[in-house]
Amino acid sequence: MAAGWNLSEGSYDPRRILTEEDLNDIFSVLFSNQSKNTTSYKFGFLKAILDNLYNVDINLSLSFTSIFAKFAESYWNLVLVHKLKQCRGASQGKIYDILHEEWNNLPENNGRVENTNVIPFESLSAESQVKIISNVTKECSKYVVGATYADSKGNFYSFSKKSKTITFNPVVYQYLLRHKTMIEKVNYFEWAKFLHEVNESSGNDYLESLDYSTKRNNLDSYRKILFEEFEHRCFYCGAPLKDDRNTHVDHFIPWSFVKDDKLWNFVLACSKCNESKNNKLPPREKIDLIVNRNRILLDRRASDSLIDSNVYTDETIPYLYKVAAINGFNEVWLGK
Ligand SMILES: [Zn+2]
Repeated sequence: MAAGWNLSEGSYDPRRILTEEDLNDIFSVLFSNQSKNTTSYKFGFLKAILDNLYNVDINLSLSFTSIFAKFAESYWNLVLVHKLKQCRGASQGKIYDILHEEWNNLPENNGRVENTNVIPFESLSAESQVKIISNVTKECSKYVVGATYADSKGNFYSFSKKSKTITFNPVVYQYLLRHKTMIEKVNYFEWAKFLHEVNESSGNDYLESLDYSTKRNNLDSYRKILFEEFEHRCFYCGAPLKDDRNTHVDHFIPWSFVKDDKLWNFVLACSKCNESKNNKLPPREKIDLIVNRNRILLDRRASDSLIDSNVYTDETIPYLYKVAAINGFNEVWLGK
């Protein structure tokens, strides 16, 4: 068992000064053999942290629930949809059991598992999602959170199983922002290597499965709100839009950078603009427009859970725009 797995809480020392080398070490240790690896959960945990980097509150805290919601969604896709084993040896591991049990219990499956097409995580009922996330949180807060803390020599974050949160060491948080894309790539690479070792099938595109494991297809709920609240025009070119599938829901800051679906980052766009913009940053002069748009949205829909009013501020989009650019997303789309 990895060191630290049974800790119930831990704190980083705010007085300890971390050099750039110390910061590099936190992550090189996580990826090295010093950190014991019988499952892929450590990689999944780091991915869930990176995917949640912009969901921290003012104290740089993240709830276990937001971390393990992302984790559960990734594993649902990797384990059930792509059938990728995440564990060494004969066992499939506890996360597999949790996901499988819920899948078997769905009324439409009637206990038949093997040959059914697995629906995406986002299409499960809210009740099923909550149950899975809660069981995954129990399992991982027991074995993963303390172990990763110990691997980082207590420098990465403070955590408490009682309050079910982690709080980033601010120096490490800044480091993660500066190097997000690079750390994400190394994490995928090491995870893919692990999958290659424990899965017999060859020819799998592990990297792509990992990268897209939280990509959603169905953005209808976001489209619906934006349609209800705003003029039916393309955010970028102003073309009139109809309430149908030709109207795209565009990630203002590209999905491939944020890896998250947030209402405040969505705009309605015509298919031409959306496809032509693709992975690029939007024109800088659109930033003020979306910030103003989001003020209206927050005002009208303050209680809507899709809004994230506890973490979103006027600074969020300009800040993400800047951070995306230093992470290599520096190509700006200039129009269709
Ligand atoms: Zn357009």
